[in-house]
Amino acid sequence: MRILIREVKNHLDSEVEISGWAQNIRIMSSVLFIELRDVSGTVQGVLLKKGNEELFDSLKTIPRETVMSMEGQAVKSQAKIGYEVQIKNLEILNKSETPLPLGVVDKIDSDIETRLENRYLDLRRPEKLSIFKVQSTIANSIRDYFVQQGFIEIHSPKIVAAATEGGTELFPVKYFERNAYLSQSPQLYKEIMMSAGFDRVFEVAPAFRAEEHNTPRHINEFTSIDMEMSFVNDDDVMDVLENVIKVAGQSIAESNERELEILGVSKPSLDYKFKRISYSEFVKMANQRGIKLKDGEDLSTPVLKTVGGEINEFYFITRWPRELKPFYVQPFDEEYSRGFDLQFGELEITSGAQRVHSPEVLVNNLKNKGLNPESFSFYVNAFRYGMPPHAGWAIGLERLTMVLLNISNIRETTLFPRDRTRVTP
Ligand code: ATP
Repeated sequence: MRILIREVKNHLDSEVEISGWAQNIRIMSSVLFIELRDVSGTVQGVLLKKGNEELFDSLKTIPRETVMSMEGQAVKSQAKIGYEVQIKNLEILNKSETPLPLGVVDKIDSDIETRLENRYLDLRRPEKLSIFKVQSTIANSIRDYFVQQGFIEIHSPKIVAAATEGGTELFPVKYFERNAYLSQSPQLYKEIMMSAGFDRVFEVAPAFRAEEHNTPRHINEFTSIDMEMSFVNDDDVMDVLENVIKVAGQSIAESNERELEILGVSKPSLDYKFKRISYSEFVKMANQRGIKLKDGEDLSTPVLKTVGGEINEFYFITRWPRELKPFYVQPFDEEYSRGFDLQFGELEITSGAQRVHSPEVLVNNLKNKGLNPESFSFYVNAFRYGMPPHAGWAIGLERLTMVLLNISNIRETTLFPRDRTRVTP
């Protein structure tokens, strides 16, 4: 039975069978060394020419990254990791072609375009694989947390008729004889679920944004972790969000020690209370730092860089001006709303809010934003027959991964990024 390479150390002095990619093959006169890699790590296989002439000769010309299985004795040795496998049998399962379009063990990192073009090879590198092992921990720990807290997981449609925020950031799709769009957010549907009485829901699913900008933090298809709860306000869901981030950080610290080591990053230490800074305070902070910013203006990237850059931790910006938030955000007073963002330094990770629950306020807000309530009737109707007060938020999984692993380009935390110029692979 095949075992994973990292399990070899538990089978010293016995026979093992391992499979993987031959990332390096070296011949020292009458000894051949094969560095075999699988998802769990690497180990050296050793083959003596004496007694294995035929196999030895056939392996001399085997290209790197060939997939093979080997059987042999696991023994302690001089190898860096302290043990190796003395090959008895070896089967080539699939020979690699040469030359490789992208080196896997080469020390020099190729440019990101070449790497993305050959992503299957790029992802064979332990440091790239590690990013996605950690991302899996993040998504699973958040999912577990929600389930424990009594949330129902939902799957809302990704082909929709109306724009969530009425914006232009939508990809049109031909839907038989009509026009439809790829969903930019499950916002309207998760709110409808509050009217449906589901009380608390979450969804982990793709969101599509036809945003033209090409930045290190935007992609055109990202994974949105969304939640919505009934009978709560903005402060309550900020508490939930803080817990969720801490649970994710804790899970990484517990489950991904090896990956963090490979990536050279330390365990996330999140044992502080996330500050809640109001939008107006933030504007003051900007002005104190010499930025001319009026209350009511959006917080641009340079503003977030200057002020947020100094706050090297998670913090909320709360009570945003109503003008700057979508129609479904509950007003706090005439000017401000119950909308908030979670930031890490200059980067926005989450936006959330207590939502409007009164159908009259909703219709008014839609009109004020220049939207036609008629095109939202499937949504507005859900507010007319008993909609509870509710609140929720959405985190971008790729952005959260960036922050927790200190990675500066979102393309690194996305398996197959979709950006302004890339739709393949
Ligand atoms: P930004 O202002 O950074 O463009 P946004 O205000 O459009 O983000 P929301 O619509 O509030 O973002 O989406 C909620 C979360 O989803 C964001 O905080 C972010 O984590 C993630 N997100 C949004 N747009 C993108 C994108 N284009 N690429 C990656 N993640 C995104």
